[in-house]
Formats: sequence, structure tokens, C-alpha cells
Amino acid sequence: MIPDWRRLLPWRQQEAPMAEPPKEPVFEQPPREPGAERMEFQLSLRRRGISSREVLRAMDVVPREQFVLPDYVETAYADQAMPISCGQTISQPYVVAYMTEQLDVHRDHRVLEVGTGSGYQAAVLSQLAGEVYSVERYRTLADRARETLGRLGYTNVTVVAGDGLGGLPAHAPYDRIIVTAAAEAVPQTLVDELTEGGVMVLPLGEHSGPQRIVRLTRHKEGVARQELIWVRFVPLLPGQAREL
Ligand code: SAH
Repeated sequence: MIPDWRRLLPWRQQEAPMAEPPKEPVFEQPPREPGAERMEFQLSLRRRGISSREVLRAMDVVPREQFVLPDYVETAYADQAMPISCGQTISQPYVVAYMTEQLDVHRDHRVLEVGTGSGYQAAVLSQLAGEVYSVERYRTLADRARETLGRLGYTNVTVVAGDGLGGLPAHAPYDRIIVTAAAEAVPQTLVDELTEGGVMVLPLGEHSGPQRIVRLTRHKEGVARQELIWVRFVPLLPGQAREL
């Protein structure tokens, strides 16, 4: 069939209005190939230094668009933090990948996350760990994350509404602990819930300023500390949120 040139040339279309509206939409640009964003997403993580194949694979299989608010679905794979409910944020993908890589998670590990937020980081951890427990102080966020993770079939994640600063004694000790909100001091309760040889990764620093990702390893003799990249996180606050 000969294409109607007026449908292909929008300015001509204005000059010579058609009797009938076009049945198919006129694209000014060809639609992006499905998967192009995901490919770019993987490339940018590699370019920024993420090298663990397991972490890259976990980042590849978890559908980030399922964890962002509807207004952000189109830009879900952009390398930036985005708002979620209750004034909180879903972390930037690079920081999720970086912290996960630093956590060095293995299949036989039990992992605790403090700060479930959207559930995205927990979903990434679920691909690498045996069991994941995640605590969130906003019930609204905990309920929503539990629903999202359940719908997507991440059966090894348990979301608990509560104050993660008190740890989660019911399932302690943990081989790995990740805190995804900024702490002004190392929470000793969490250190106490680490196994010997256990690792904790957390953003540490003043709530008002930039913070540093810190990696703590618990040894018999004490805790070894490594300071890593600068980041900016929402604050780790005591107590379960009274509303929401
Ligand atoms: N990991 C999340 C991003 C978390 S933003 C994701 O992948 O989407 C940090 C979260 O930590 C917020 O939801 C905030 O409510 C929560 N938080 C802050 N202090 C907390 C505490 N004491 N216990 C549990 N959650 C806390």
C-alpha cells in the first residue's frame, strides 16, 4: 500500500488537513527499542565500576519500574534517587549496586536491611542471599513493599514494620546488615546482631551534610572499619513513625 505522505510529514498535514483522522499515531521519532534503557542501565553500572557479575545480574533482573511511583515509571532506569511515599526516597541505582557489592552477599547468608522504603534494595538482595529481613518505620511503606515483593514472587524476603534501630532480634544473628538511611553514629544494637565475620554497610555522617558509606566487619577482637564513597541519604530516625 502506498503510504499517505501527509501522515508522515506533520507540517504537510497542517497545510492539507485530512478528511479522516489517522488511525495509527504519527511518531516524530521511532519508538525506542524495548530493553534499550535496561541495556544502558547495565552499561552505566559497569562504567561506574560495578564489576560483580552476581550484582550486575541481580540489578538486571529486578524490575525497578515496579518500585517507583506511577509518575516515575518512564524514568525508572535513570541513575537517580526518586521520591516515594511518606517523604522518603528510592536510592539511586548506582548506590544500590555499590552498597550491595560492598556487602558481599552469598547464597547461604541471612541479611537484615534497615529502611525498606520501596522494597527495591530488598529485591536486589533477595537475588543473592538465602533470606532477607527488612525493617521499615513507616507502616504504609512496609505494607506497600510487602505487597510489591509478594506480587513479583520474591519469597525469601520478609518485611517488618518497626524501628530498625532496635535491630530484629527474632531472626538474629545476621551475616550481613545494610542500613539504607543515614546514621549519625554506628548503631551498636545492629553491630551486636552481626555474626562473627559479619559485615555491615551503612551511610554514616551528619543528617544535614553528605555522608560516607562505611563498611564494618565484626571480628572476635573488635570491629574493622573502612570508609568508602560520599553519598546523601534520608536520615535514620528512632522509633516507628506514629502516622502513616
Ligand atoms: N532501601 C530503600 C530506600 C530507603 S530510604 C529502597 O530500596 O527503596 C530510607 C528508609 O529508611 C525510609 O523509608 C525511612 O522511613 C526508613 N527508616 C529511617 N529510619 C528508620 C528506622 N529507625 N527503622 C526502620 N526504617 C527507617
